[in-house]
Amino acid sequence: MRAAFRRASDLAEHLQLPESSWQTGLAAADGFPLFVPREFAAKMRRGDIGDPLLRQVLPVEQETFVTESFTANPVGDDEAMLTPGLLQKYHGRALMVTTGACAVHCRYCFRRHFPYGEGPKGIDAWSSALGAIHQDESLHEILLSGGDPLTLTDGVLTLLAEKIAAARHIRRLRVHTRLPVMIPSRVCDSLLAWLTGTRLRPFVVIHVNHPHELADDVAAALARLSEAQVPLLNQSVLLKGVNDDAETLIELSEKLLDLNVMPYYLHQLDRVQGAAHFEVPRAEGLRIVKTMRSRLPGYAVPRYVEEIAGDASKRVIG
Ligand SMILES: *Cc1c(COP(=O)(O)O)cnc(C)c1O
Ligand code: SF4
Repeated sequence: MRAAFRRASDLAEHLQLPESSWQTGLAAADGFPLFVPREFAAKMRRGDIGDPLLRQVLPVEQETFVTESFTANPVGDDEAMLTPGLLQKYHGRALMVTTGACAVHCRYCFRRHFPYGEGPKGIDAWSSALGAIHQDESLHEILLSGGDPLTLTDGVLTLLAEKIAAARHIRRLRVHTRLPVMIPSRVCDSLLAWLTGTRLRPFVVIHVNHPHELADDVAAALARLSEAQVPLLNQSVLLKGVNDDAETLIELSEKLLDLNVMPYYLHQLDRVQGAAHFEVPRAEGLRIVKTMRSRLPGYAVPRYVEEIAGDASKRVIG
């Protein structure tokens, strides 16, 4: 993470982008800076400002435009906070905001305005979340999210997994992360040790939007998880100019299956302020998913969903 690109100028130089193509976006990086690991940048095409991986991470001028009905808290996270660091929206599962740090800054992220600075920092800061988990016997699954939980050290994560496993009603530990894709070497022995080292059944949900993200280094990291018997799921966000065509998403599903990853969700963009230029109309999304259904086995078509604040689950579109 220390080696990651933090300035648009450095990334642009690395990719040989003409100055006129990225300088207009500099102001957009003020509140939410650029952050791109070298491993991810290595998968982008040189000299192509429209590259689908670059588009996910490069600040652009449109982010500063104010769009009506795009808000700072589009998915009701404030209302779902059980205790600091613990969100519950759905029956039986709760989500721990373990950290504000991510291995990449995705420009469309619904948490781009999240008050991360106020979140827990170390194992002691989770005592109230862990207390709530231990008390609520209706919970069966804990999601580690953030931010990206795998930006924490394995020492901290080992303790956290043990403390969650000590609540006898919890059965599953689900990790939502982009790290195996952004910095594949993060999938190391000590990560596998805590992930598979408790009585909890582990699941890992990765986030891949485009087949170019699944290069050999990422495939090797996913193979390690899958050899350790960790079920793998993928979620994508439907993004204009990144993956808003059936051929791209069909190829993504095929590649995911090659790597033992089940396509899980295709998310309609959350209407977060600054991300309106990524939105694909739902009618277009439905056309894309219909084409996918006509070409792929049923299990290879992710559920096309949106998140409506207050709903009892993600809502299937179509
Ligand atoms: C999306 C989400 C989940 C997970 O939902 P699943 O349908 O089980 O994948 C859990 N908690 C919160 C707060 C969420 O936003
Ligand atoms: S990794 Fe996930 S939480 Fe972090 S910026 Fe990207 S989409 Fe948001």
